[in-house]
Amino acid sequence: MTDIRTDFCVVGGGPAGLTLALLLARSGARVAVVERSRSFEREYRGEILQPGGQALLAELGVLAPARAHGAHEHHRFLLEENGKVLINGDYRRLPGPFNCLLSIPQRHLLRELLAQCHEYAGFQYLSGTKVTALVEDGGRVQGVVCGDDQVVLAHCVIGADGRYSKVRQLAGIPADRVEGFRQDVLWFKLSADGELPSDVRVFRAGGNPVLAYTSVRDRVQFGWTLPHKGYQLLAQQGLAHIKEQLRAAVPGYADRIDEEITSFRDLSLLDVFSGGARQWVRDGLLLIGDSAHTHGPIGAQGINLAIQDAVAAHPLLLESLRANDSSGAMLGRFVTVRKRDIDRMNRIQAVQGKAMLSAGRVSSVVRPRLAIVVARTPLYRAMLRQIAFGNTGIRIRTELFARG
Ligand SMILES: Cc1cc2nc3c(=O)[nH]c(=O)nc-3n(C[C@H](O)[C@H](O)[C@H](O)COP(=O)(O)OP(=O)(O)OC[C@H]3O[C@@H](n4cnc5c(N)ncnc54)[C@H](O)[C@@H]3O)c2cc1C
Repeated sequence: MTDIRTDFCVVGGGPAGLTLALLLARSGARVAVVERSRSFEREYRGEILQPGGQALLAELGVLAPARAHGAHEHHRFLLEENGKVLINGDYRRLPGPFNCLLSIPQRHLLRELLAQCHEYAGFQYLSGTKVTALVEDGGRVQGVVCGDDQVVLAHCVIGADGRYSKVRQLAGIPADRVEGFRQDVLWFKLSADGELPSDVRVFRAGGNPVLAYTSVRDRVQFGWTLPHKGYQLLAQQGLAHIKEQLRAAVPGYADRIDEEITSFRDLSLLDVFSGGARQWVRDGLLLIGDSAHTHGPIGAQGINLAIQDAVAAHPLLLESLRANDSSGAMLGRFVTVRKRDIDRMNRIQAVQGKAMLSAGRVSSVVRPRLAIVVARTPLYRAMLRQIAFGNTGIRIRTELFARG
């Protein structure tokens, strides 16, 4: 098979990889994206997009057409306990126009990003193609091997292949896994009960906390948290037992749980962890998105950060191409730009996880009191802004786009 030669080989066509590919292709660079999946119906991923990510995708002309396939706006994030609202994160108080949480299936975003990438002659998409090895010379990454024999050679390889990154593993970069949440999430959808609420809620009715929000096609998405590795024990007791627990956790939907959860196939167990690669660059290689830093669902940050990574990497990669320098030192400037943002967000997510999910008598007494105090402080408002927008200094460098 003939080798492909390109400027940038992006491994992984998720939010990080396709956003970066579009930015580079628009700037006149040659880009090949290698994606193992043939469809957009990939392993389940969350679908809440924060305002910062919405703004960047809108500027790229991707958000509006993606939204046209179906999306749902949420105005508030609510933390509730026994029917009482402890925290009301009201996004309408943030500066517009993207002052909402947007529930939008990832396939809508990815389809639109890819369609726009295809408008550029220098773009190639190798779908249904898995990276199996790196091409290296003297410690420098020069390309990837796909499947058995397809080789893609590039000025720089970008690993955007998610939290179990094969590229990271092939490059011998260790990754840390932080069980910060000590929870797994059982994910299921039910049909909505008439009205379609515009709040993302974490609540406790009976038992473990539940995340709930309206998804597209008038469905409500639920995430029932349970102690890490606790599901197997539960599953051994049968579906009827699990449904009993779910009815107690979400009493308002007891009938629908009875009618619509009819087999284990209606439930998905999600492995929730955060963590990251110990280094994000090597000579000829850059990691972005979840492959560099992994995020769980708390605070809906992963897609936002992945898109911002792509926007931050875009000018640096173009400069490295112009200078014909893909050394670790050159690519390491990305780490300087992003590491602080990611560390800050990890700290915020850890606080959110503890505030929302911690159990026990002390927590249930302290949480409501603490929430009332915290919600009134400027610190809380600053935190909400940070969660919503991330680093607002990360802007698309449209002046780098090729003319005509
Ligand atoms: C349960 C759960 C819920 C979440 N909810 C939210 C949420 O509501 N909002 C939010 O912002 N974030 C959420 N996240 C996090 C978010 O999904 C990720 O942070 C985000 O998808 C990261 O984007 P990415 O492009 O870096 O990686 P990914 O989206 O994981 O994309 C990686 C791509 O690489 C491809 N790939 C993998 N290996 C190879 C290979 N060897 N060769 C070729 N291709 C390969 C995969 O098929 C995939 O398309 C959630 C995460 C979990 C686990």
